[in-house]
Amino acid sequence: MKKRIKLKEEEEHFPSPIRQRVCKCGCGHDFQPNRKDHLYINKQHYDFDYNTTKRKIKNKHIIEVEKTLRLNNRILEKHYQSNIGNKKKEPVRCYYEILKSDGFTSKNYIGVSEEGTEKFYLLYDYYYLLFRNKSNQLIIEIYKN
Ligand SMILES: [Zn+2]
Repeated sequence: MKKRIKLKEEEEHFPSPIRQRVCKCGCGHDFQPNRKDHLYINKQHYDFDYNTTKRKIKNKHIIEVEKTLRLNNRILEKHYQSNIGNKKKEPVRCYYEILKSDGFTSKNYIGVSEEGTEKFYLLYDYYYLLFRNKSNQLIIEIYKN
């Protein structure tokens, strides 16, 4: 309440046609703009926004890839945990289509490990290989790190 009264007094003493606005940098502070295109409290706030926004755009693709890696890892975990059951024996085999419908993508992984003719794709906590069964269905074999 006190704050609101104080603002009113300020407005009466310094009448301005431009209304108070929230600084664009995201700091959450109100300020009194001098011009219509005055969007930041000062240069520091402008610089902060410019630098962080630029950095965000620059790293956007990295953030997107990391998201798919984390999602892949989560999906492997889900199917590993639900299929390992009381068998407690690796690997877990699933239809690749089922993981794909969960959002799994074979496009992104953090590494490849080749053992003989087999190629293992690595995620954070799990790794997998893909092969086709006799019915030509794509099977994913999941291992825990
Ligand atoms: Zn600010």
